[in-house]
Amino acid sequence: MDESQKINLILSENRVKLHIFNPSKKEIWCIVGEKNEYWLDQSLNFCSCKGYYFTKLNQKMSCYHLKSIEIALKNKNIDVVEFSNEEYDDFLLSVIHDLYH
Ligand SMILES: [Zn+2]
Repeated sequence: MDESQKINLILSENRVKLHIFNPSKKEIWCIVGEKNEYWLDQSLNFCSCKGYYFTKLNQKMSCYHLKSIEIALKNKNIDVVEFSNEEYDDFLLSVIHDLYH
């Protein structure tokens, strides 16, 4: 599969998730991948996947997850899930736990 096919698959299966924590409106973006859930930060242009790490080494702009979010934003093709502020720390911990274990 090439990059644009991967992006199409992510969008068609609604795998771009935006978690909003209320009332602070803090945002955590995730993309559900084949094996892992990837954590992204749009404002920092950061993605937790290995592809992102290597594209940075090659001085490319971003991985296909970040590109997927860009397109999802344009198409309003985002799965929004709302949480309360109290859940933010636990959520972040579970994302970080998934990344490093
Ligand atoms: Zn990525």
